[in-house]
Amino acid sequence: MNYQKVEFKISAANPSQFPRDGIPQIAFAGKSNVGKSSVINRVLQRKKMAYVGGSPGKTIHINYFLVDETAYLVDLPGYGYAQAGQKQREALKKMIERYCLLREQLVCLFVLIDCRHEPQKIDLEFINWLGENGVPFAIVFTKGDKLGKVRLKENVEAYKARLLEEWEELPPVFVTSAETKLGSEELTAYIESINRDLEITRSRDHE
Ligand code: GDP
Repeated sequence: MNYQKVEFKISAANPSQFPRDGIPQIAFAGKSNVGKSSVINRVLQRKKMAYVGGSPGKTIHINYFLVDETAYLVDLPGYGYAQAGQKQREALKKMIERYCLLREQLVCLFVLIDCRHEPQKIDLEFINWLGENGVPFAIVFTKGDKLGKVRLKENVEAYKARLLEEWEELPPVFVTSAETKLGSEELTAYIESINRDLEITRSRDHE
């Protein structure tokens, strides 16, 4: 993918609207305000495709961006918005879980974590749920520019150690910043490698 053509395809309000056209999907999830829109815009190499700094937790929509007619980048609704009511939190959780469980074409889900914070229950529970349900995922630490180098490394290592208390293997981990471009090449290269693997699998299937 060279991100020449990025189309906003659909904002799905319920599972019947999820595209089921066989095109691979790469999804982004995380707490509201974690920097998800900024990461998506960075990957898409667009300034304002995904909405940055909008009022969090208001909409329960899943937004699909079609890139070069090759893959969707999927913007899942931000969870854990403090002021959302119990009912809205439940609806949000259900929507994200439904998306994950219906995931025929989901090739990787990036879980975004703010690098400044200690591991939080809501993220750990989500990560464990993904693992238990066999959802392919990777972790992206965001806002890397907000910490000094040493502290950043310490926090990331502490997070990994926390995950290793429950899991034998770590998923791929990326450390990024939307301000300094830290990690953006690695993330793009990883997405590219997923796509390449898919192409190889597809051409093998056609042999
Ligand atoms: P979302 O709610 O998860 O989509 O988060 P946004 O992308 O809208 O970002 C939330 C806020 O954090 C905005 O004010 C962004 O400008 C800021 N932000 C996002 N990423 C970074 C980053 O890497 N570094 C810094 N310093 N601020 C960021």
